[in-house]
Amino acid sequence: MPDTTYDAVIVGGGTKGLFLAMYLARYGGMSVGVFERRHESGGGLAGEESAAPGFTGNIHATMLYLHQHWMQLWRDFPEFEEYGGQVDQHVCINGAIFADTEKSLVTYSTKHDPTQERSAQNIAKISERDAELWLKVWEVREPLIKAICMSYSTIPTVGGAMARYQRPLEALAEKGMKLDPVFGSYSCLRAAKELWESKEMQKLMVRLAMSRGADILAAGGGMASGLLEPATQPLMCFQVGGTHQAAHAAHRVLIRDGVKAWTNCEVDKVIIENGTAKGIRLKDGTEIGARRVVISTLSPQQLCFDLIGKEHLNSQIIRRIELLESDSLCIAWYQWALHEAPKYKLAQVNPDLNDANWLDLHLDNDPDSLAREAYWRKLGKMPPFEDLNPVVWCHSVADPRYAPVGKHLASHEQFMPPATAFSEREWLALKKQHAEDIMKLWQMFAPNMTWDNVIGVDSNTPYDVLRLKNMAPNGNWNVLDNVPHQSGAYRPIPELAHYRTPIKNLYGTGSGWSGGGGTVGAGYMCYKAIAEDMDLGKPWLEPGKEEPDSLYEQVIRVEKKLQQSVVEKKLQQSVKV
Ligand SMILES: Cc1cc2nc3c(=O)[nH]c(=O)nc-3n(C[C@H](O)[C@H](O)[C@H](O)COP(=O)(O)OP(=O)(O)OC[C@H]3O[C@@H](n4cnc5c(N)ncnc54)[C@H](O)[C@@H]3O)c2cc1C
Repeated sequence: MPDTTYDAVIVGGGTKGLFLAMYLARYGGMSVGVFERRHESGGGLAGEESAAPGFTGNIHATMLYLHQHWMQLWRDFPEFEEYGGQVDQHVCINGAIFADTEKSLVTYSTKHDPTQERSAQNIAKISERDAELWLKVWEVREPLIKAICMSYSTIPTVGGAMARYQRPLEALAEKGMKLDPVFGSYSCLRAAKELWESKEMQKLMVRLAMSRGADILAAGGGMASGLLEPATQPLMCFQVGGTHQAAHAAHRVLIRDGVKAWTNCEVDKVIIENGTAKGIRLKDGTEIGARRVVISTLSPQQLCFDLIGKEHLNSQIIRRIELLESDSLCIAWYQWALHEAPKYKLAQVNPDLNDANWLDLHLDNDPDSLAREAYWRKLGKMPPFEDLNPVVWCHSVADPRYAPVGKHLASHEQFMPPATAFSEREWLALKKQHAEDIMKLWQMFAPNMTWDNVIGVDSNTPYDVLRLKNMAPNGNWNVLDNVPHQSGAYRPIPELAHYRTPIKNLYGTGSGWSGGGGTVGAGYMCYKAIAEDMDLGKPWLEPGKEEPDSLYEQVIRVEKKLQQSVVEKKLQQSVKV
C-alpha cells in the first residue's frame, strides 16, 4: 500500500519536471506529484547568491532564446509570464574582442536593432561580404525560426529535421543563397570557414556554436554555424531577475493547479509490476503510487540503471546506454561579484561592447585556436593560457535586479575537460589557477578587472556541476554530447527516443532526450507522447494554437514588447529633457 498516490508521478523537479507537470495538471487533468532530490525545485533553472550575498548568479542556465525556451508556456499558460517568466535583452547579443589586432565585432539584439542594419554595419567594418550574408539570412528568418520552434515542440522522427528545414532552404535559395547539401556533413568549424569571409566572423560564429552545444570538430554540425546564426542570434535573451524566477513562476502555476512539488525527496526506484510502472520508492523507503504514469527527467543512465534496473532491459539497450558519450560539453561558469562592471578598452571605439550578452575575449582572430582548445580537452587536459577562449557577460548592466545598487554581477564561461579527468584535489587547485588566469586575461581587455574590483567569486566547474546528479559522470551541461548518433530521433538511443520506455506507463525525458539540452521544451514534447498514448488534452490542436504559427506568434509578440520598451524609454527620456 503506497504512502501517497497521484495520477502522475514525476522524478526530478528541474526544467523538464516542472514544465511537464504544468501540462499534465492543466491539459491532462491529472493529479501530479513532483519529487526533487535537492532542497529546492528548479534544477538548472538556478539563480544563486553564490559569489556574494545579494548578487544573483545564473549558475546553470542564462542563455535563453525567444524561439526556443518558453514560447509554448507563454501560449498555454498566460499567467506564467505575469508570474515572472519574463525575458530581456542586452544591446549587443554576441561580440568578440581580438587582442592581437585590437579589433572588435558585435551583433545587436532584435530589441535594439529590429532590422539588423546596425549588426550589418558593424560586421561590414571587417567584411562587407559577411555583412551582406548576415542580412540575407535575417530576411528569411520566419521559415527558419518556425522550423526551430518545431524542433523544440515535436516528437522527433528519422529525417524529420531535414524535412522541416526544406522550406527555409528554399527561401534561402530564392535569395540566391543555395546551400550545397554537403554542408550538412561538415563540422561546424569547416562550415564557418567556407561561409564567412573574415576570420573574425568565423571565430565569432564557431565560439557561439560551442556555447550552444556543438562539438565543433564533429562531422554533421555544419548548418549551425552558418544557416541558423544570423536568423537566431538576435533573439538571444536572459531571464529578468535571474533564471530561478522562471522556476518560481512555474511553481506558482503548479500551486494554482493543485500540483504538489516535493523537495529533499531522492527517488531510488521505479516500482515495476508485471512490466508496468506502478509508482516510485524514495531513498528513505517511502512508496508513492502512480495511478496512470511515471515520468523520469533524470539522465538516461539513471533512468535505465538506477530507476528501472538492468533486469528489466534487453542487452542492446544496456550496451547502448553504457556507451553514451558525454565528455565534450563540459564548462566552467564563474560568477564574479564586482564593485564596477568591466569597462573594455575598445569601448572607446564602440561603447556598446560594455552591454553585451555574450562577449568573447580572444587573444587572436585565428578560429583554429578553438580547435586546439577542443583537442586539449579531448586529451583530458586543461587548455594552456594561450588557447583559452572565454566568453564573458554582465547581466546587471542590463538588469539592475542582478546585483545590489551600484554593484555588478559578471560571469564567464570557459570549456574544460570532463569532471572525471581530475581528482577532487586537482580540481581544487585548477579552480584557483583558472580564476587567476581569467583575471589576467580579462584585464588585458578591461583594465578595471583587477582583484581590487572583486567582492567575491563562485568557481563553478564541471566537477561542481555534479551537484545535479543527472549531469554525472562528466558534469556535461547537456547531459550528453550532441553528436549525430545522439541527436534527434536517436537521442539518447533509438529505443528510448520517443520518450517512451520498454516499461508500460513509464516515460523518460530530460536533457538526454531530443529537444532537451537546455532549459527548453522536452517536457512539452514528452507531454505530447503521453497525450497521444492516453488521449489527454492537446492544446496544440485548439483553434488559434496551430504549430508552428502559434509559437512564432509568441516569439514576435515578445519581440515587439521588447522593442516597444525601447521606444517608451526614449520617450520618457525626451520628456525629462
Ligand atoms: C554550467 C551550466 C551552464 C548552462 N547554461 C545553460 C544556458 O545558458 N541555457 C540553457 O538553456 N541551458 C543551460 N544549461 C543546461 C540546463 O541547465 C539543463 O539542460 C537543464 O536544466 C536541464 O533540465 P532538466 O530538467 O533535464 O534537468 P535539471 O534541470 O538538471 O533537473 C533535473 C532535476 O532532477 C534532480 N534529481 C537528480 N537525481 C534525482 C533523484 N534520484 N531523485 C529526485 N530528483 C533527482 C536534480 O537535482 C535536478 O533538480 C547549463 C548547464 C550548466 C551545468
